[in-house]
Amino acid sequence: MIRIVCLGGAGSVTGSCYLVENPQGKKVLVDCGLFQGGRQMEERNRGDWGFDPKEVRTLFLTHAHIDHSGRIPKLVKDGFEGKIMTSPPTAELCEIMLLDSGHVQEMDAEWQTRKNRRRAKKEVYPLYTTEEAMESLRFLSPVGRDQIVTVEPGIKARLRNAGHILGSSILELWVGEGNEAIKIVFSGDLGKNHQLIVRDPHEIFDADYLFLESTYGNRRHHSFEQSKEELLEAIRYSVSQGEKVIIPAFAVERTQEILYVLSEFYRKGLFKEIPIYLDSPLAIKATEIFRKNKKYYDQEAQAIVDKGHDPFDMPGLHFTPTTRESMAINEGTGPAIVIAGSGMCTAGRIKHHLKHNLWRKGASVVIVGFQAKGTTGRKIVDGAKEVKIFRENVAVRAKVFTIGGFSAHADQEDLLEWVSHFESNPRVFVIHGEPEASKALAKEIQERFNLIAHIPKWKERLILRPREVTIEGPEEMEQLPDVKTAMLNTIVDLERELEILKRRIKSDELEGKIGEEEMDRLEYIKEELQATLP
Ligand SMILES: [Zn+2]
Repeated sequence: MIRIVCLGGAGSVTGSCYLVENPQGKKVLVDCGLFQGGRQMEERNRGDWGFDPKEVRTLFLTHAHIDHSGRIPKLVKDGFEGKIMTSPPTAELCEIMLLDSGHVQEMDAEWQTRKNRRRAKKEVYPLYTTEEAMESLRFLSPVGRDQIVTVEPGIKARLRNAGHILGSSILELWVGEGNEAIKIVFSGDLGKNHQLIVRDPHEIFDADYLFLESTYGNRRHHSFEQSKEELLEAIRYSVSQGEKVIIPAFAVERTQEILYVLSEFYRKGLFKEIPIYLDSPLAIKATEIFRKNKKYYDQEAQAIVDKGHDPFDMPGLHFTPTTRESMAINEGTGPAIVIAGSGMCTAGRIKHHLKHNLWRKGASVVIVGFQAKGTTGRKIVDGAKEVKIFRENVAVRAKVFTIGGFSAHADQEDLLEWVSHFESNPRVFVIHGEPEASKALAKEIQERFNLIAHIPKWKERLILRPREVTIEGPEEMEQLPDVKTAMLNTIVDLERELEILKRRIKSDELEGKIGEEEMDRLEYIKEELQATLP
């Protein structure tokens, strides 16, 4: 029998990680992603693996996104010494993303430690450091697409194009030998049909078991053509007003798609040369990797290259890797397009550009990615009259364009179409989705194709036999504290904090002045309150 434990990306969209064990007890791992989205979820990153990393000889990595790759440095730190099998572009992208993630982990720990010090709590250590991220890179072992590789006696694998981001793969896994062998397919994240730059997902016809992502399992995307129109409208609006267009964007894939569309506009003569700044060191490095990996482009991108163009370039495009160059953007006046991270306006250089432009009538902010609850980006999308940036209230006078058609994920129709190619009636496990999305997709799969679709829970163990499956619950149900208890705990903590703050403000020491320390404490209380929102 073959055992699969769903250690992440089950019941949620982050932390993707599946442990596969063959009848001889050999273990391989599929993805090793970071849990993201709120403190309770992030706590899982520090939890027990549920297996000994030393025993795992192979990790298959479907793609470079942090929710699929972000715990690799921790896995290595905890003893993993095997091979990380992945496509060559994924290995290249991982290099820049994991180093960046190490840096973020260090900054987070530093900030938490500073907060804790004020409350006489202990120091927080980063999940891993930049140096540990660097160390983990030597285990990356790129393999070509479409070739079958034997990784253990009785375990074979093949990577297929998933069409999600550059280098993203579907994994085909054969476990067991002879009549006992079964084929398991992990979809990874699937791209939508006709996505820019990358080819459409590879069609697969047979599997005994299919692990299918369901990020957009209950949604239909907006039309992409309409989204391009809206982007052009934003540019024309701000150019006519002599102001800037600010685009917060994720560094990998989204940024390159924006550059691709802008250069297409330019070639078609839809706008005249204006300064365009790619103001993100990570996005600049990612774009260089996209430029190098031409053989992974789809036909349209290839055709642009064949005509002698670079699909990510146009006159007026400037890369601004240094802080000095970044600051200079805001010293200049006149129309320009600025693409910067972070994608949800919570950190990074985008905050400076928003501070300088959000209050300007005639400027525009173009939102092209998902904005999670509580983020500055979400507030802007929801029509806030002002938002707080670096402790200052900034009025929102710029025009806000929310463009929904840029997505690197298959929507419900794309997912169902991809499933329709299977001729072998696989048993389906619906993973990597919020519960409503997974449920909606599972229902459609059952109704349309008459396939059995099950939604595994976090830590659920699946026993697979040729065409037979047993489901075991998690060994010990590890419950997150319920929302009510978590909220009450936080409130009790905060009452204490408020009391201290009240005393400080009233004390004679301050002589009527409110200092940095008091503002910090207030900011802390606000953040804690926000973190309790489910
Ligand atoms: Zn992804």
